[in-house]
Amino acid sequence: MSDLLDRLRRRGWRMTAQRRVVAEVLDGEHVHLTADEVLARATARLPEISRATVYNTLGELVLLGEVIEVATNDRAKRYDPNAHRPHQHLVCSGCGAIRDVHPDGDPLADLPPAERYGFIISEVETTYWGLCPDCART
Ligand SMILES: [Zn+2]
Ligand SMILES: [Zn+2]
Repeated sequence: MSDLLDRLRRRGWRMTAQRRVVAEVLDGEHVHLTADEVLARATARLPEISRATVYNTLGELVLLGEVIEVATNDRAKRYDPNAHRPHQHLVCSGCGAIRDVHPDGDPLADLPPAERYGFIISEVETTYWGLCPDCART
């Protein structure tokens, strides 16, 4: 579970009805929604919610470090509530389904010092592309 709502409550995030709906839409496992998808789902729950509120709330959650932005190729940026456990992504090139995955070992250790060119590396992002079982079947 990403327990996004619990995390926000614990840190005293100001929880209006509109902001709560955005957080609820994002809560869960393997959630990687575009801003438009968040807007559509939030509107289904709370018809009066505005696009500006949804976008501002997403931006705020990213600034707080409770949601991370995931860029997959040329597709729209996605919002991921699994911000506290380092993970990589498995992406279906057919339908765009995304899963959070946790490779064995330390991805940073896999890069030999000679290949680091003096960089101080803060983060490793790996995307595994392929076909999900549904797309592979057709
Ligand atoms: Zn697929
Ligand atoms: Zn993820």
